[in-house]
Amino acid sequence: MSKYDYDYIVVGGGSGGIASARRAASYGARVLVIEKGPLGGTCVNVGCVPKKIMWQAAHFAHQNLLAEDYGFQPREALLDWGTLKEKRDAYIKRLNQIYQNNLLKSGVTVVHGMGTLIDDSTVSVEGKAYRAPHILIAVGGVPLRPEIAGADHGLTSNDFFELTTCPKTCLIAGSGYIALELAGVLQALGCKVDLLIRTRRVLRSFDEPLSEHLLETLRLAPDGPHIHQQTTIHSVEKTKSGVRCHLEQGESLEAEQLIWAVGREPLLKPLGLERLGLAPTPTGGLAVDAYQNTEVKGIYAVGDVTQKKELTPVAIAAGRRLADRLFGGQENAHLDYGCIPTVVFTHPPLGTVGLSEQEAVEQHGKDAIRVYESKFTNLMYSLSEYKPKTYMRLITLLPSEKILGLHVVGDGADEMLQGFAVAVKMGATKQDFDRTVAIHPSASEEFVTMT
Ligand code: FAD
Ligand code: NDP
Repeated sequence: MSKYDYDYIVVGGGSGGIASARRAASYGARVLVIEKGPLGGTCVNVGCVPKKIMWQAAHFAHQNLLAEDYGFQPREALLDWGTLKEKRDAYIKRLNQIYQNNLLKSGVTVVHGMGTLIDDSTVSVEGKAYRAPHILIAVGGVPLRPEIAGADHGLTSNDFFELTTCPKTCLIAGSGYIALELAGVLQALGCKVDLLIRTRRVLRSFDEPLSEHLLETLRLAPDGPHIHQQTTIHSVEKTKSGVRCHLEQGESLEAEQLIWAVGREPLLKPLGLERLGLAPTPTGGLAVDAYQNTEVKGIYAVGDVTQKKELTPVAIAAGRRLADRLFGGQENAHLDYGCIPTVVFTHPPLGTVGLSEQEAVEQHGKDAIRVYESKFTNLMYSLSEYKPKTYMRLITLLPSEKILGLHVVGDGADEMLQGFAVAVKMGATKQDFDRTVAIHPSASEEFVTMT
């Protein structure tokens, strides 16, 4: 009799864990998923899905404003936040059930509880031990609060999804995806938002002209947040009506709520990895090689816990490739982390795939790079006084003008990017774009008509 209960134990039933578990089961592996919370992980419960619903609600509010410029009678868009939350929560409950059903249909066993590694082939849940020769750590991450006095008075993105009413005023600290997305959503839905950025820039790892343009667009938008650059919170105090944040710059700001959006970190402690001699990286993640192997044989990691491109489709793809390699006979299967498209769901959204101009210059030298760009007003705003500019950039490599990076800020960026990402991944050149007939009138046609 085998000393193992399963072939594969997956700790964490989020995007990466579930995808890997189901793929492994499709090859006939006996798979166990251990999940301490609701199935679906961050993305389904406190990430992409509820965020996109809130973004969509905010989008309706934006469109409502724009409609007046087209001659629609002014109509106050009064949102019943409670109804939106109730319907959103019900949808997520349905998704949780769908995940459960799909796992069962795939023949995967699910155990609910906190998983702790006992040795390199044993995971314990509430005192019961489960054994397998392959263990995947797919535990994701949790939002961080800075270590300053009163930080606990601020909410995290998890708490944002618990809000039962829309705050009248809100301070948001951070300059990444979550800070920008939540600032846009709250402001559009009727909250007065102050966004506090500790440097002068947002999205610092993105193509610089692009993130500068986004910041400028948000600053000029009639319904954009109030942006404070070079502003850092020193301490937080609870007040009768909310919070008061004392700034390092000396003043203070008050609001009904404060939201921290200052990054995320894996929750490794409960896993007991020290028993295996597996130490976290200096930034608190788990180091893996190109095949998702940790330093301990038979122990793998995918998704946010590896701190490589913290995106749902990345966790899913890495998890599936790993299962293909371990159980599908595809010895070399692994995820290529290059050229991964991503969208920041701001209003307007920002989409990017491939290298930024800075990265391209670092990798190939300034003289080998040619940049094309275009700034224009989307036809949608032709009847409005407010005319935000869509901004597109193509970073190409000479002499073939292979497209290394494609970047866009503007309405529709979220839906236009995926198709272009296929072309960039396939190695398209500027000439290939030029040869493609445009779709008119659209914003995306500019990508194939740029000179
Ligand atoms: P997770 O999905 O976080 O899953 C990890 C699971 O492990 C969790 O369910 C957790 O409960 C469980 N777990 C942890 N420790 C244990 C343990 N010891 N035992 C048992 N279970 C454990 N990405 C996008 O691509 N697009 C977006 O629009 C987007 N929006 C986002 C919005 C927000 C507000 C946030 C926070 C994130 C967003 N992301 C988005 C990122 C995306 O959610 C993550 O990249 C993705 O969920 C990572 O998947 P994962 O499998 O690594 O981890
Ligand atoms: P990010 O890492 O994107 O951004 C956090 C930023 O906050 C840091 O980069 C830093 O920027 C700034 N910061 C850090 N500490 C402080 C502090 N003490 N005070 C003020 N600012 C601070 O993290 P997020 O939490 O926004 O998101 C986590 C990840 O989740 C993202 O990186 C992304 O991968 C994923 N995600 C994806 C989404 C999508 O696909 N649309 C949406 C949401 C999340 P600086 O150093 O420049 O100040």
